[in-house]
Amino acid sequence: MLPTDHITLDTLTLSWLPSQMEAAMLRLDKLDPEISGNKWFKLKYNLEAAKEQGKKHILTFGGAYSNHIAATAAACQLAGLTCTGVIRGERPPVYGHTLQQAMDKGMLLEFISREDYRNSRQQYNAAPDTYVIPEGGHNAAGARGCEEILSLFPTHHFTHVLCATGTGTTLAGLINSAAPHQTILGIPVLKGAAYLEEEVRALLHPGKPHQWQLLHDFHGGGYAKVKPELIDFINTFYQETGIPTDIIYTGKLIKAFHELIHQGYFPDKSKILLIHTGGLQGNLSLPPGVLTL
Ligand SMILES: *Cc1c(COP(=O)(O)O)cnc(C)c1O
Repeated sequence: MLPTDHITLDTLTLSWLPSQMEAAMLRLDKLDPEISGNKWFKLKYNLEAAKEQGKKHILTFGGAYSNHIAATAAACQLAGLTCTGVIRGERPPVYGHTLQQAMDKGMLLEFISREDYRNSRQQYNAAPDTYVIPEGGHNAAGARGCEEILSLFPTHHFTHVLCATGTGTTLAGLINSAAPHQTILGIPVLKGAAYLEEEVRALLHPGKPHQWQLLHDFHGGGYAKVKPELIDFINTFYQETGIPTDIIYTGKLIKAFHELIHQGYFPDKSKILLIHTGGLQGNLSLPPGVLTL
């Protein structure tokens, strides 16, 4: 188990925030440098289930830059479990930092073609002593861990909660644990992710009224597409708040937040909570000096 006492709830002072609104950021990025942000919450009950079922080995899936792969490798080492990462695509001649870090943490890496990956992700014949975690930790145990995020601090007074969305697991956990007066907004970082509605709904507790929505216009060109205006926004946000964000997820979240404010999306007196889901290790794939964090 990882202590959560490094996490903070930071009030945001932003020149562009209307004076009758409040905004704060829940800094899951501060949890641990390697087991970043929301990934720990998604892994927690999966690793616990693996141990309860007497499994010795974890197998999971991801791309060569996956925060989930990096986090799983580190969390398994901490939990005393061995692990395999099934990586989409050919083995690169030189490992990027994500794969290097995963390997340093003892993860076995298995590279498979994109086509095989699509198939095996659905159905993988793992050995009996192996516990399989789906790509991105997208399962009920993953969402259950994310149900604990909003109770790390008193968050009842917030009217809106925003988070960056990949698989929708974190969003589902937030929705399941939100108060009835709160609206939960997911910002998908993938283009054309209409399927996400269903994926999120599949993880929701039935019989509870939920107010939530996916806002699909803020992917900034698609997954891992990094435009200069995103880089500029991340740098400016850091200058203003001292909070570093990443190019794949949380940078797009804060940029979406800025645009929503600009559009007048939020009613007067809104109190908005942004979830910093971590992912800062992903910035290491940029050439040095591009981000001034
Ligand atoms: C993986 C990740 C997400 C996406 O979380 P989902 O539960 O898959 O939607 C968001 N932010 C960061 C930093 C991530 O690494």
